[in-house]
Amino acid sequence: MSTRRGPRMVLLGKQGSGKGTQGERLAVQFGIQHLSTGQMFRDSATAGVTAGLEAKAFMDRGELVPDDLVIAVVHERFQNPIEVQPGFVLDGFPRTKQQAFELDRILEAHPIDIVIDLDVPTDIVVDRMRARGREDDTEESIRRRLELYDTETKPLVDFYRERSVLATVDGLGTEDEVNAALLKAVGSRFPNGSE
Ligand code: ADP
Repeated sequence: MSTRRGPRMVLLGKQGSGKGTQGERLAVQFGIQHLSTGQMFRDSATAGVTAGLEAKAFMDRGELVPDDLVIAVVHERFQNPIEVQPGFVLDGFPRTKQQAFELDRILEAHPIDIVIDLDVPTDIVVDRMRARGREDDTEESIRRRLELYDTETKPLVDFYRERSVLATVDGLGTEDEVNAALLKAVGSRFPNGSE
């Protein structure tokens, strides 16, 4: 018996490229879970949970949260089959090679269908981050996060390209235009939206 399910996808892209906004829309459109590790940490820090407070210290400085901590949180979330089976959109994870390896291990028999590199030039994402003014969007933290994107996260683009699951989508344009481009990219890799 084949069970209908939505896509399992990863959104790669610089900070401020629109992964959060678009991830939420895709989740609603496909009826899948939207998992943002940054948001999970912000929520647990607000709730006073130890892991969240530990993470916040790194986030405020623009550093990456250590792999162990991030992986533990994602692993726990994916222990629940409800999070995996319908499909999901991962936003902000993986951000390092180590995290990508661990994601494979965590997903086992449920590999990623598509990894989308949401492409936006650096000067534009800097303007967007300045404008959104989140607590961790200080000049120093913005600079540091983009530096870490280049050294730690950008290599994942090639990593997933080699696996033939990568699609690059232009992240410039209105939210609707970017959303349409994303839906087209997902449609080409995940025909019928079911399996
Ligand atoms: P942004 O896209 O602006 O970085 P996020 O909400 O995705 O916003 O992430 C905010 C912060 O949370 C990051 O700067 C980082 O400190 C931390 N974080 C989120 N996801 C990860 C991850 N996968 N690995 C390490 N740190 C992470």
